[in-house]
Amino acid sequence: MDEMGDYDYTRSGNPTRTTLQDHLAKIIGCETVWAVNSGMSALDIIARLIKPGEHVVAGDDLYGGTQRLLTFLNTNGSANVSHIDLTNLDLVKKTITKDTAFVFLESPTNPLIKVVDLKSIADYAHSVNPNALVVFDNTMMTPLLMKPLELGADIQYESATKYLNGHHDIMAGIIATNSEDLAKRLFFVINSIGSGLSPFDSWLLLRGLKTLSLRLERQQSNALKLATWLQGQGLKVRYPDR
Ligand SMILES: *Cc1c(COP(=O)(O)O)cnc(C)c1O
Repeated sequence: MDEMGDYDYTRSGNPTRTTLQDHLAKIIGCETVWAVNSGMSALDIIARLIKPGEHVVAGDDLYGGTQRLLTFLNTNGSANVSHIDLTNLDLVKKTITKDTAFVFLESPTNPLIKVVDLKSIADYAHSVNPNALVVFDNTMMTPLLMKPLELGADIQYESATKYLNGHHDIMAGIIATNSEDLAKRLFFVINSIGSGLSPFDSWLLLRGLKTLSLRLERQQSNALKLATWLQGQGLKVRYPDR
């Protein structure tokens, strides 16, 4: 027997992780999902596709951990990162050039809740450089409220530590794409460094996903009530619905 199969070794694959990934691919409506051991690890895996010195465009209001990792790559010369206000489309168009290899987006931004026009930015980046990869952090929206791959993102990633799991008993991240080539390159990194999600955590995340839509609906109705009440108190409220 010289064919090892999909499950010869757990770092490379295990049936529970496959079940989770297949389930997530259905929810997202995409070809491939990889489940990994944190949201930051998902970003790290994607960032390993950047070649030394390549131009990367990212937001100026990013999740703290994302800012920290991109700054680290910039300082080490692993990437040349421009941080800009992604809600300013003129500025975005000035900053993205034919040499821009990656665009990292997040919306609504954390912590300022700025809404970024993914479709316009993705269309522009791809028109200037068809090989540019648009990467979208969908943690805040979850696959139930936003489908970044349908709006032009090449890669979508999310922290599953928060909304997707909902029970606060694991760390996890997910990476989604419709490109077979990108899926293979990402899996190569995951398998090489061992950042795939463990079988037990995959099982816990499958459990957490079962209540995602219920939790999300309740959280949104609570948040809207709070935002309305705070606004009624005369405070400036940052809530995308306002
Ligand atoms: C929490 C968070 C992450 C990182 O996820 P971890 O699972 O904590 O590593 C990335 N992006 C956003 C927007 C987040 O809120």
